[in-house]
This record gives sequence, structure tokens and C-alpha cells, in this order.
Amino acid sequence: MVEKIEASHPISDRDNPNHHQSSLGLSALTQDQLNTLIAQAKVKCQGGQLPTYIPLLAQANPGWVAVQVQRIQGERVAGGDINRSFPLMSVIKPFVLLFLLEQLGTEAVFSQVGMEASDQPFNSLAQLQADRGKPRNPMINSGAIALAGRLPGKDGASRCETLRQWLNQRSQSQLVLDEAMLQSVRSLPNERNHAIANLLATSGYLDHPEIALDTYNHICCLSGTVTDLAQLGMLLVQDNSMISPEHCRMVNDILITCGLYQASSRFATDVGLPTKSGVSGAMVSIVPSQGAIACYSPALDEMGNSQAGLFI
Ligand code: GLN
Repeated sequence: MVEKIEASHPISDRDNPNHHQSSLGLSALTQDQLNTLIAQAKVKCQGGQLPTYIPLLAQANPGWVAVQVQRIQGERVAGGDINRSFPLMSVIKPFVLLFLLEQLGTEAVFSQVGMEASDQPFNSLAQLQADRGKPRNPMINSGAIALAGRLPGKDGASRCETLRQWLNQRSQSQLVLDEAMLQSVRSLPNERNHAIANLLATSGYLDHPEIALDTYNHICCLSGTVTDLAQLGMLLVQDNSMISPEHCRMVNDILITCGLYQASSRFATDVGLPTKSGVSGAMVSIVPSQGAIACYSPALDEMGNSQAGLFI
């Protein structure tokens, strides 16, 4: 019997132990089912908002939806606006963490940043103040800016290039730096991120706040398609000889509790997949031992997560 996907049965539900269809897994997903989900997601994203603080992001079409499902066993399934390129924004954060864990080891990384969940927005200064200047986790801006300060290289451009090459080589993705997006990020002052970087510096978690901030802005503008994002996601799925399984597991564990900001705990209960979102509408979910789901849809909910991405 051909199984029919209903609105209540998105891809990410297929592995939720709380759902009786969980045994299906990613391998059973067909192109027709994905097309149905994308059509439903296009309706879901209608109420979403585009961010205004990065002018170029505000020019996206809120109706775009692209999905690529990459499976360890079996071919890819992709649908929607899959040729659209988008900046990763905060979706780069788990991959910065992975890079630094591989380069510096766990002790060096977690002396700079915690792994506790936060119920504050992604750019919260109050959270950093409450934590006396130590970033609570690497998935919010304070943690990612602190980690950007640990990337090797003399300036933002060279650090970003080192990370880009490392990721492209290991994941066979083709990320590029979107210079126009970087200009757009720089075109309006981001007082909050500046204040975060300055507090990190005075609390001893950052040596050169301006370089760290510039690095952070660069890496947020690394861009690609859902194909690139799914490939990146596979770095966190496979036991591949180039990445330590222990580091993969750590990043996944942190994503479960911190990947979607204030929505993390709700999503962990409802869906249970390590997932990261970005303000561009990018989102990647890891399906352990099975594959990765990459989505792009720029319309956001009030917490800054892609509406269609959460649905898919
Ligand atoms: N560059 C963005 C910022 O710091 C990234 C944030 C995000 O994607 N949530 O505001």
C-alpha cells in the first residue's frame, strides 16, 4: 500500500520515537511525498517575516522553499527552489564548533564557551551579562563570536577562507563567500553584536573583539544551496575517518538543546533531531545514522527560525 503523507506527518517526524510511524525513516521518503510536503510548506510560510536588519535578506522572496534530503544509503531527494543560493548565517555555528574541536580539542574549546541551553534570543546581551561574560553555548551569538576569535588567521577574511576550505574539502560542498551579503551585514551597525564582543573582551574570553566580530560576519556570509547544506550536514552524520565520532556526537548533543534558540526544548520534545537554523531561513537537521535534511525558506517565525523549515 502506498503510504500517504499528511500535513501532520512531515519528514522530521519520521524518526520521532513518540510517533508510531518512526520505523519508516528517511529511506522510505519518495519524491512525490517530498513534493507534497513542499506544497504544504509553501502555505505554512505565508505568515512569516523577513529580517530587516540585514537589508539584502529583506529582499528574499518569502515564498521560496527548497529542501534536500541526503541519505547515507540511497540517493538524494530534493525539491522546490533548489537552485537558490543563500548565506548560512547562524547555521555556520555548529561547523565552526566542529572545526575548532578538531583543531584544538575539547578542553581548549569548552574553556571558552559553555554548553548550557539558553531561553533568551540568539543575540541576547542580558544572557551574557547574567553569565558574567562567559558565553553560554556556541549556538548563540556570544558563543559563536568567542569561537570566531579562536579561528586561525590574521583577519576575518583569512580566517573565513581557512574554514571555508576545510569544510568544502571534507564535505564536498561548494561554499562561497557572498561579498554582497557581507557588505549588507556591514551596512547597518549591529550594536548588539558589538556590545557582546566588547563584554567578551572585558571578561577575558576574547583578545581582539574587532577581528572576532569581522570573522563572525564573514563566516555568516558563507553561502551555498540546499545541496551544499545537506553535504555539510552529512559531516555530522557519518562516522567518516576525517572527523572524530566523539566530536560529531558533542556537536549533535549541543544542537539538540541549543540549535533553535528559545524553541530548542519544544522542538527537542516534538521532533528530537539535532537541528540548526539561521536568520536567512537556512536550516539543517541531522538524522543520526541515516542522513541530513537541508531546508531553505526565508520567512521566519518570531524566534528567528524558518517557518517552513520547522514544518518540514
Ligand atoms: N549574522 C547574524 C547575526 O548575528 C546571524 C544570526 C542568525 O542567523 N540567527 O545577527
